[in-house]
Amino acid sequence: MLEQAQRVLKDIFGYDSFRGRQGAIIERVASGGDALVLMPTGGGKSLCFQVPALLRDGLAVVVSPLIALMDDQVATLEELGVAAAALNSTLSAEQQRDLAARIKRGEVKMLYLAPERLVQPRMLAFLQSLEIALFAIDEAHCVSQWGHDFRREYLQLGQLAELFPNVPRIALTATADKRTREEIVDRLHLQNAERFLSSFDRPNIFYRIVPKEQPRKQLLAFLAERRSDAGIVYCLSRKKVEEVAAFLSEQGFPALPYHAGLPNDLRAYHQKRFLNEEGLIMVATVAFGMGIDKPNVRFVAHLDLPKSLEAYYQETGRGGRDGLPADAWMAYGLQDVVMLKQLLQNSEGDERHKRLEQHKLDAMLSLCEETRCRRQTLLAYFDEDMPEPCGHCDNCVDGVQTWDATEPARQALSAIFRTGQRYGVGHLVDVLLGKDNEKVRSFGHQHLSVYGVGKALSESEWRSLYRQLVARGLADVDHEGYGGLRLNDSCRPLLKGEVTLELRRDLKPQVTAKTASKSPASQLVRGEEREQWEALRALRRKLAEEHGVPPYVIFPDSTLLEMLRSQPTSLAEMARVSGVGARKLERYGDAFLEVLGGAAEAPKPVADVRHELITLARAGMTPLQIAGQLRCSEKNVYTMLAEAIGKQQLSLEQALDLPEELMGEVQDAFLDGEGELPSVAEVAELFAGRVPEGVLYCVRAALQSEFEM
Ligand code: ADP
Ligand code: ZN
Repeated sequence: MLEQAQRVLKDIFGYDSFRGRQGAIIERVASGGDALVLMPTGGGKSLCFQVPALLRDGLAVVVSPLIALMDDQVATLEELGVAAAALNSTLSAEQQRDLAARIKRGEVKMLYLAPERLVQPRMLAFLQSLEIALFAIDEAHCVSQWGHDFRREYLQLGQLAELFPNVPRIALTATADKRTREEIVDRLHLQNAERFLSSFDRPNIFYRIVPKEQPRKQLLAFLAERRSDAGIVYCLSRKKVEEVAAFLSEQGFPALPYHAGLPNDLRAYHQKRFLNEEGLIMVATVAFGMGIDKPNVRFVAHLDLPKSLEAYYQETGRGGRDGLPADAWMAYGLQDVVMLKQLLQNSEGDERHKRLEQHKLDAMLSLCEETRCRRQTLLAYFDEDMPEPCGHCDNCVDGVQTWDATEPARQALSAIFRTGQRYGVGHLVDVLLGKDNEKVRSFGHQHLSVYGVGKALSESEWRSLYRQLVARGLADVDHEGYGGLRLNDSCRPLLKGEVTLELRRDLKPQVTAKTASKSPASQLVRGEEREQWEALRALRRKLAEEHGVPPYVIFPDSTLLEMLRSQPTSLAEMARVSGVGARKLERYGDAFLEVLGGAAEAPKPVADVRHELITLARAGMTPLQIAGQLRCSEKNVYTMLAEAIGKQQLSLEQALDLPEELMGEVQDAFLDGEGELPSVAEVAELFAGRVPEGVLYCVRAALQSEFEM
């Protein structure tokens, strides 16, 4: 059996060997047994049911909660030459009848379905009339009522056990905890399933957490080494998402915003672009991520602290699904703690709930201030023991220096106390450093005993110290959210001299900026390989556009990289590249060989900039934002906008976001006087410094096209 499975793996999928426990799982299911599979994101769950499906007779039925995920998998399978289809609400009645007929004729090997579809009595009866190879239940944790992805329809999937007693069932999830696991077994009636539990470690992710100093500058330094990579930047608020996306676009890093406040179609459009294009950055709130299967996300950056380690693990886990190196990078500072604690205090929910959330936040904070291996700490939180430090996180690689902060910590706490437990860190540090300023004098704080006692440390060292005091719960942040600090009872032993305190020594920002830019992920493609790499990607993109699928469906990055490194010169050599199965070899082998041999020019992307401009403008983007996205000047954007308006492809309102009054004034300027419309140059002076000249071209184009009608 395993031999047959190996052959399918190589012939269809083009891979040489199974990963982790894939082999054992496939053997179990292919021979008719049930299985419960827990594997982290990127572990390779899909093959666990796709290979058995190909080994067994009949139709394989895959239950999946999200249409986007289904479409992605179906497209991937079709590219491999496997007959797969998704039955969901996007199909017309006729398409559905058509599909049913194909299924009856045995022309479909794998059918993807939403759970609510599957459990309809008619559907169940239909399936009972067929030979079924297996049932795969993806994202099986959706059956858990305690999780955040609960889907009521999943509860009804238990009946498959009774209705199809001889059909093997495999449930898969990337959610680890024990309670969820038991719930899956119970509710899906999987008592006889063999359990396959993998480690939740994501070995290809490099973790780095840096103190937040100038977050935008730090982010740019991090991005500098990752120019054409795709990544996600998480921020807490919608406003910040917008600002950071605009900022990055201005700085030459094409970025799109994503948050729940954007109109649905714009959000969907951004998501689609992120999936289909290379090198785009998605700046997002936590609303972004569910169902994002893009395998070549090379980094996940956090500009704000996640609320829990669960969230941190899940969000960072969206990087590196393809198994290639990826970065999890975060800038974190005291302000994050203040903000989250305040949110928590003001949140609805009872005290018990708040305590639980507080607990989770504390665990997140200790990861940030951790002096040992980050990965060991993270896995320990999920009850997994990692005996040795990982050697693949900032703490392991850079080492962490600690220092005896007992005495300064007492001074810092004393400064909180003496100033009346209500000031923020800025003022406290001023007092400790003996600064002579308005605020200090107006409160008479220059007379305090702590005034000026802290000159041995720098301002940033004091800030770091306060941050760590709060993270360790020795000082509290006020509930009102002004950032004032108070003593916590737990600081008493320290004040009384009964304990000592070792703290992390923050690296200087210049140092972190330098080290943060380097990681295995940033070195994935070496300088001299760049040109050919881009040529391979361009060909992939062209093929993807022709087939209407995302680029990674043609070939994952790992396959392109292997082509780059092994430089195959014949189809036979190409066939040996991991990820090149028989079908893809036949379809694409020659084209990629040509690019590798340098015979073919890298194809130009066919996307039409003008077309895109219109879509963006209709979606409500400003000319400046559009310029950032299209990587061209704002002036250029106005020229194209004016052109589109002239052709009546866009209305003036869609193109410009001008206050009504000002718009009226501009229109009047053109309409004053008799006969011909004045030229832009003739009215430009009236609006110098008030509106960009491009606006005038747009308005004139609109008026002209009206006259011509
Ligand atoms: P998951 O669903 O667990 O997140 P996927 O099934 O999407 O993971 O697989 C992640 C990536 O790893 C995919 O690009 C897949 O083709 C690849 N992959 C899976 N198994 C293997 C293997 N045995 N050898 C090489 N690549 C694999
Ligand atoms: Zn480590």
